[in-house]
Parts: sequence; structure tokens; C-alpha cells
Amino acid sequence: MSRSTHAVVMGGGLAGMLSAEVLARHVGSVTVVERDILPEGPGQRRGVPQAHHAHLLWSNGAGIIDKLLPGTTDRMIGAGARRIGFQGDQVTLTVRGWQHRFPPTQFAILCTRPLLDWIVRDQILSAGRIDLRQGTEVVGLCGDRGRVAGVRVRDMNRETTAIEADLVVDATGRASGLRHWLPALGVPPPEKDVVDAGIGYATRLFAAPPGAATVFPAVNVCAYHSVDQPAQFGVVYPVEGGRWIVTLSCTRGGALPAHEDDFQAFARSRLGHPLVADLIGLAEPVTSMFRSRSGANRRLYPERHGGWPDGLIIVGDSLAAFNPVYGHGMSAAARCAAALDRELASGGTTRRMQEAIGAAVDDPWILAASKDAGYANCRINATDPRLVGEQTEHQLRFADSIIEKSLVAPRVCAVVTDVISLSAGQTELGSSRFLSLMHSDTPYPKLPGPPLRPEELDIVRLPAYERVPIA
Ligand SMILES: Cc1cc2nc3c(=O)[nH]c(=O)nc-3n(C[C@H](O)[C@H](O)[C@H](O)COP(=O)(O)OP(=O)(O)OC[C@H]3O[C@@H](n4cnc5c(N)ncnc54)[C@H](O)[C@@H]3O)c2cc1C
Repeated sequence: MSRSTHAVVMGGGLAGMLSAEVLARHVGSVTVVERDILPEGPGQRRGVPQAHHAHLLWSNGAGIIDKLLPGTTDRMIGAGARRIGFQGDQVTLTVRGWQHRFPPTQFAILCTRPLLDWIVRDQILSAGRIDLRQGTEVVGLCGDRGRVAGVRVRDMNRETTAIEADLVVDATGRASGLRHWLPALGVPPPEKDVVDAGIGYATRLFAAPPGAATVFPAVNVCAYHSVDQPAQFGVVYPVEGGRWIVTLSCTRGGALPAHEDDFQAFARSRLGHPLVADLIGLAEPVTSMFRSRSGANRRLYPERHGGWPDGLIIVGDSLAAFNPVYGHGMSAAARCAAALDRELASGGTTRRMQEAIGAAVDDPWILAASKDAGYANCRINATDPRLVGEQTEHQLRFADSIIEKSLVAPRVCAVVTDVISLSAGQTELGSSRFLSLMHSDTPYPKLPGPPLRPEELDIVRLPAYERVPIA
């Protein structure tokens, strides 16, 4: 791309901002078009409704963001975010039992989504290299079936104008309008896979007991699920301001708490252990409950499209969105930006860029979609042979045996943690090195209950909990 190139990024969320940052290093000028007026600080906004729910940024995504924007995660931690070591700083119940808290090999950043978005946005925009058009909605594309040449936008006075561009990046998220905008240029939409376990989320913020948000581990009580029952999950994550964000979720057919008064009762009756409900009982709610149902795995394949127009790229949730339970969406947005950066540096074509971006989202895609395919009532409309082939049943059983072993075997756990944090590719789980570890890694005894340290129990005053050994 030459220095005279003008790029337009549609959407100023995480994927849009990170893409704009890398574009600004390679092209002449970058404009971000964002429908919302962006808050000047950590604040909720209409365009990112999922920001009300618990968010975790895995080490892979955090590492990419820090490499692009040095000091970003330190800034988050300075503002009250927690850096949680995996598996040492989280207490996890899976369907196969409690996870030993082995010494951490990876980490995640925990804070509210508005704080995370604000810090990333501020790091990018304060350099002054990006033109931000806020309060401006993209309503279509300019160009023809061979080339996208800009975007049509509508401002707050409802006036529609065109912005010309040599490169247009769609980062408008799950609700992207591409499915309408492309046919208007005479281009059929790209192929799409959907694996929808019907995930629903309900979230409240609580004031944690004094000191708990900085000392007590993160808690993740996973579901009991089987082929004929909906799954339920609950997390208690420490976030800035001495608070806990508590998110309860379920797959299709499972109920969400209907009312705030049901929140704790849901956690007590639906999860595999009362720990989440007991912690809620110690905390004061500071927000009302926020519910949503938008967690389908959905992936587009522009790289397979025979007539994809030049000058158009898709990134972030607009390209591939995942069941949020795995916490991969923000890291995928960062991976898209890193792939775009590499391809821009090597002078790649639009097609090459999109192929590289597609490859960058493949691991989070297959991890989430293949796991969800095993849930009761999951709706699958997919062409990916890894999801519809005869081997799927066998792969799900193998995945279950890996989870079971990783609960008790430290070296297996380290590899699995590398994979779920996206720091290693999922093919690692099929390598001969890993298969031999599955046999040779000496297991610890299974844990009878949540592995909480005495000082952690003292801080939340849950004396009834048995003191279970930590690895
Ligand atoms: C309930 C829930 C929990 C989640 N938890 C996690 C987690 O723990 N960890 C994790 O990594 N990920 C998580 N995710 C996923 C994560 O939220 C997304 O992957 C991430 O926000 C994607 O960023 P994005 O920029 O692609 O899209 P978005 O965040 O959706 O941003 C899209 C932007 O485009 C703007 N826009 C939309 N249409 C237009 C238009 N026509 N014109 C102009 N602007 C427009 C919007 O206003 C918005 O600013 C979760 C998702 C959900 C739903």
C-alpha cells in the first residue's frame, strides 16, 4: 500500500481501533467511522451492548496489544484491572471436576469492558494519526462488483455523503450490514457457518468484600452438561473499583434469572457448586441485572469467495464471532490486526490480507464451534468439515478426556492452557508430544472441593469451606 492510500475503517470498537492503528503505520491516512459518540473515559455505549458482561482478555490478545501499543496492559492494571495467572489464580469447576491450581503458565487481564476499550482507544487516538468520524453511520459501500471505492455514511443530521477510500475495513461487529451492502454492489455475500448453542447471559456488578477484588481468585463454575440437558455457567471476576462482575449463563433450553431477585437463587440451584451463590451472598449489588442472548459462533468466508471485490477486508466479530464463554473475541480482534499488519508490511493484495486474517481466527473458531456442537439443542449450519464430519463425535470424546486429564496433570494442563489462551495452535493437542504427555504426565489426586487458600477464605469469611490442597 502506498503512502497516498486512504483507508476507511467501519466501526470504532476494539477490532476497528486496532486495525486503524496498524493501517496508520502503512498507509497515508485513516478514517474511522463510528455510529456512537465515544465516551471520553470508561463508559457504556449502545454499539457494544456486550460490554455489560464479564470480559477476560487472554495473554495472546494482551501480548499483541502490548506489542502494538506498549504499556497498555500496565495502564489497565494501574486503573485497577487484575492480571490473573492460569491456572494458579482461578478456581475452576468443570464438568469433570475441580481444576488444580497449578503454577501459572499463561494469564488473562480482568477488568470491565468499558475500561479496557477506553484505554486501548486512548492509546491509539492520542497519537493523533487517525481521523475519527463519530456519530456517523455507515449505510452502504461505494464502488462496483470489482472494487470497493469507499463508504456511504449518514451523519447525525441524517445527511448522507460518500467517503472515498482505497481500502475499506469492515469492523462493525456481529450486526454488520455487509449482507445488504454487498448485494447492492452486485456481489453475493460470502459463505457463512453458524454453530449456535443458544447462549444467554445475565450479569450484575457487586461491591466485593474489602480486599477481595485484589486477593481472592477468579471463580469459574462450569456447567454440568450432557447431550440431552442445557448447560449453565457462572463466573465471579474481580474488576476495577473493588468490584466483582458476576455473569451467569446457559445454553438453549436453560433458563436465565428472570429478575434480579432470582440472580443468587439461579446461581445456587443451577450451577454445579454453590461457591458462586455464596460469594454473591457476601457482596452488595451496585448495578441492576443486564441480560442478553447473542453468543452464536458465526464465521464468514470471504477468502473462499470467487468474486470478492478488491479493496474490502473484514475483521473482528464481523468476520468471526464466538460463544463468549471461551473469552476469545477480543484476542481474535487483536490477531486480525496483527495479521493485517504483517500483510501490509509485505505488500499483500486484499485477497492475501483476507486469507491471513481468516487463518488468524481459525483457532478460536474451531475451539468454540467444535465444543458447542456437543451441547444439547445446538443448531448447526456449517460447511467446515471439522464440524460436520463423521469424526466429530470421536473428537468431542477426545476433547473431554483432555479436559479431565488437565485438571490433575500439570504438564498436560500447561499445554491446554497455552491452547485456550490462543498462545499455541489447537493442532498442538494432536501432536505426538502432547499425546505422549497424556500417558506419561503423573496425575495429582482429584480435588474434593474448591481449592481455596486459608488467607483467601479468611478474606471472604467462608469458614464452612473445607481447606482443599492447592497443587
Ligand atoms: C456476552 C459477551 C461476553 C463476551 N466476553 C468476552 C470475553 O470474556 N473475552 C473476549 O475476548 N471476548 C468476549 N466477547 C466478545 C467480544 O465482546 C467481541 O469479540 C469484541 O467486542 C469484538 O469487537 P469488534 O470491534 O469486532 O465488534 P464490536 O465490539 O461489536 O464493535 C463494533 C463497532 O462498530 C460500530 N458500528 C456498528 N455498525 C455500524 C455502522 N453501520 N456504522 C458505524 N459504526 C457501526 C459499533 O457502534 C461498535 O463500536 C464477549 C461477547 C459477548 C456477546
